[in-house]
Amino acid sequence: MDLVDLFVSFPDIGILVYLWMHWLFWALMFLPPKVFTVERLHMGGLGLALPGMVFIVEGEPLSTLHHEQTHTLQMRRYSPTGVAMYLGWHYGTGLLWQKTTGQPINLWTLWKSNPLELEANSRMYDGSTPLCIEPVAVLHFLFFSLLLTAGTIWMV
Ligand SMILES: [Zn+2]
Repeated sequence: MDLVDLFVSFPDIGILVYLWMHWLFWALMFLPPKVFTVERLHMGGLGLALPGMVFIVEGEPLSTLHHEQTHTLQMRRYSPTGVAMYLGWHYGTGLLWQKTTGQPINLWTLWKSNPLELEANSRMYDGSTPLCIEPVAVLHFLFFSLLLTAGTIWMV
């Protein structure tokens, strides 16, 4: 049985492949992120954290790097997909609330009320990098690994 036969025989295998890709992305989060200095970022951002990468606008103080490193920490804790889903929920429901209550659409208000941003802002001026391997992040990752392994054995 080759790989194509495996996919055809088990349509649910696509879900497993996605979940294992998610697992790999999450595992890579535990490596130190590569920091890139850039001239500018989209929408006037000063920094951006993506899985495995941090982008900082040149000339920004160390506090901006610490803010983005906190986002890396959050992706280790909740997984990159978990953070993306949370952001989608926070901004999606927030925009829907603003729209249905007749308020002006304001992303800045939603940014300021985002718990992930509040944590990143609170760690900006600590004076040292917030980047570490938190025990809770390892626990979440191991729990997901265990569930995924058990699910894979059960499905295949
Ligand atoms: Zn931020």
